[in-house]
Amino acid sequence: MSECLFCKIARKEIPSAIVYEDDTLLAFKDIFPQAPVHLLIISKAHCQGLGDLTPETAAAAARIPQVAAQLAADQGVGTSGWRLLSNCGADAGQSVAHLHFHLLGGKPLGGKLCQ
Ligand code: AMP
Ligand code: ZN
Repeated sequence: MSECLFCKIARKEIPSAIVYEDDTLLAFKDIFPQAPVHLLIISKAHCQGLGDLTPETAAAAARIPQVAAQLAADQGVGTSGWRLLSNCGADAGQSVAHLHFHLLGGKPLGGKLCQ
């Protein structure tokens, strides 16, 4: 998807603050952080989200919780607590149509997942 923002970030055509990379995943700092730790973990391959997985992106997505746990520890929130979530579609507020998970932590995140 040549025009997709996160595909461009994955190809390093747009700069980002990368904190982790492997063959199929990339993690970088969210440009509008909503918590002291706010990372985005994306599959390098394109799909719109969890409702649109391909075999390739499903395999990448399956590894995200383990990578997130390691990143949470690296970022110093492994013990204090963190949240991993993915918005899918309009009602969830998804604004970038490329599979990604938010990793949030560093402050009490509240108990509500919706308003
Ligand atoms: P969502 O709204 O769940 O689709 O999440 C998309 C996220 O991407 C938002 O939290 C944005 O702040 C973030 N974002 C948008 N553009 C960039 C960018 N160029 N670099 C890093 N994060 C971005
Ligand atoms: Zn994409």
